[in-house]
Amino acid sequence: MKTLQTIWQELFQPLSAFGYEEGQGTTRLSWSKPFLEAQLYLRRYGEAIGLQCRRDGWGNLLMTVPGETDLPPVYTGSHLDSVPHGGKYDGALGITVPLAIAAAWHDKGFRPYRPLTIIAFAEEEGTRFGTPCLGSQAMAGKLQGKDPDRFVTAEGRTLSQLLQEAGLEGDPFAPHLLPGKCFLELHIEQGRALEDAKLPLGIVSAIVGIRHFTVTITGTANHAGTTAMKDRKDALAAAARWISAVFEKALASQQQYVATVGHIRVFPDAGNVVPGKAELSLEIRSASDQTMDVALTEFQEELRKIARTFQVTFQWKQLDQIPPLPMEQSLMDLFEQEAQDLKIPYQIQPSWAGHDSMILGHELPTAMLFVPSVKGISHSPDEYTEPEPIGQAAEVLERALQKLTAK
Ligand SMILES: [Zn+2]
Repeated sequence: MKTLQTIWQELFQPLSAFGYEEGQGTTRLSWSKPFLEAQLYLRRYGEAIGLQCRRDGWGNLLMTVPGETDLPPVYTGSHLDSVPHGGKYDGALGITVPLAIAAAWHDKGFRPYRPLTIIAFAEEEGTRFGTPCLGSQAMAGKLQGKDPDRFVTAEGRTLSQLLQEAGLEGDPFAPHLLPGKCFLELHIEQGRALEDAKLPLGIVSAIVGIRHFTVTITGTANHAGTTAMKDRKDALAAAARWISAVFEKALASQQQYVATVGHIRVFPDAGNVVPGKAELSLEIRSASDQTMDVALTEFQEELRKIARTFQVTFQWKQLDQIPPLPMEQSLMDLFEQEAQDLKIPYQIQPSWAGHDSMILGHELPTAMLFVPSVKGISHSPDEYTEPEPIGQAAEVLERALQKLTAK
């Protein structure tokens, strides 16, 4: 009998070809030709191993291992779309490993007590409309009542057009996730914590929360020659000092949080004028709301001091706040137990990136497994994960799915 690893490789290699171009990586945008071809490939593969397959109105593919009962299913899966010029593993891994598990069960003649549904989500990356995790949001009913013509791509194409061209019918926003027992997602780490720790497996504790702000620093624009240095109210000089302070504080937190000033606009933005105003973005992410509260208080305190020194004023505006989402403890415990039984070393760690689990985690008990990303690279043609940790994660996932579908 074939090993799980062999089945996975035989499934993953052909799937990887859809949207892949030598030197260009994988470009498999939701509802594009390679996306639909990949989806059809998965569907045919699933049907050949006895799965009940269907697409919903949005274009998510659901492949169900029938159970002995019709109890609400255990869900697993990930996204089939990629970013432009992305890698082969992001998303696809979390679909192909469970499908290989279903194939192994089929080979063995094993039928779970409760159904197992493998989901290949469409439009997790947010490439089409600028909003991530739309496929999982649609399934969870979060987009109900929206107008499909109001979703428009950068090329001016509407969701309605894309769905029609993909041959999809029915309400794309109709909720159909519930009832379900739980959701498990296997994903590449996309960072380098596992590689640094030389570990093959991560069990995700929480998906970090994220908050965005706009900070406006106001000084006085004036002549760059005639304004003496001591008389200046230079908004950009103040901003520069504050940006460095944010960086230093985040670095000193030892990864309790990360903070980024990634965007700046300077007014009047001229080489011969003392900058009168600087508008900055600030993003902070952490697994702890309290940590973010403390860090933000420090950032503001620092800005107050800098404003006094540079004789400028500032305004602080919060744009949004997505709270951290802790993973389900009982599912994390199950992963831990299986990893220990299999003698697979692991660590508990937060996910610094968003995933479909972030949406489903509000609806169902949810947990995630990470495998290492070599050099922490993802969203790149160089994205790579060694086969060995994939095999180890597959074993942990298989055992967990077996237990969860057994009652
Ligand atoms: Zn992903």
